[in-house]
Amino acid sequence: MKILLLGGTSEARALAPQLLSEGHQVISSLAGRVDSPLLPDGEVRIGGFGGVSGLASYLRQNQIELVIDATHPFAEQISANAVLACEQTKTQLVRRQRPSWIQRPDSTNWTWVSDHDEAFRACLASGAKSILLTVGRQPLPHYLDLDAEKVIARVADLGRVSGLPTHWKVIEDRGPFTIEKELKLFSDKQIKLLVTKDSGSAKTAAKLDAAAKLGVQVIMVARSILPDLARPN
Ligand code: NAP
Repeated sequence: MKILLLGGTSEARALAPQLLSEGHQVISSLAGRVDSPLLPDGEVRIGGFGGVSGLASYLRQNQIELVIDATHPFAEQISANAVLACEQTKTQLVRRQRPSWIQRPDSTNWTWVSDHDEAFRACLASGAKSILLTVGRQPLPHYLDLDAEKVIARVADLGRVSGLPTHWKVIEDRGPFTIEKELKLFSDKQIKLLVTKDSGSAKTAAKLDAAAKLGVQVIMVARSILPDLARPN
């Protein structure tokens, strides 16, 4: 089959060689957000398609038979676009999404919020003086007016984000994040509040283990509900 694999995640990178070894023709697609992305095996295209109509044209022109949406759970726009473009072109679509962290036993202790504005207000209400933000770089503008004495923003790659408050500390780190490393960061920086989003990745879950162990409060931004996939005829 000729497959378009919407990626930008470690799961998509792992899936590409698997599909290739099964004899499929795979084109992995990345948004092009980071300067030096980790590239999957096989053919790769980089950059947006130009909305739903652009994606639909791409599917037609390249005679794609199957789209696999293996994007990040918070990459909501491209997932929604994929549903509409596949409906328009009658292309088969499957979604591969990581399970939510809501299944973790400690998730009942977290403050769940529906978006970053609500997370920001929850930060203010907490009164925490030392906050670790691991929400990714794009949502950082929602948190610029935090009144905490210490704010650490940890991102994989800050890219072209600028204008962050001068007293913030930015840590660029793609991991791996071990429980030992997270405990050390939380202790060294006396973190009292962790703000993160429900990415569900096993690779970034050690911070939640560390927070549980140290009694650090957690504000968790929940996932949006993605549009349903069309039922096969
Ligand atoms: P998004 O908000 O859902 O998408 C915004 C636009 O970026 C889309 O409309 C599309 O542009 C383009 N785009 C997104 N993913 C693409 C892909 N795989 N291939 C081609 N174009 C893509 O996406 P996002 O949250 O900015 O995430 C961008 C990429 O980073 C995704 O591939 C995602 O898997 C990865 N990622 C995201 C996060 C996160 O927290 N959001 C974390 C880790 C990795 P057009 O409308 O022009 O087609």
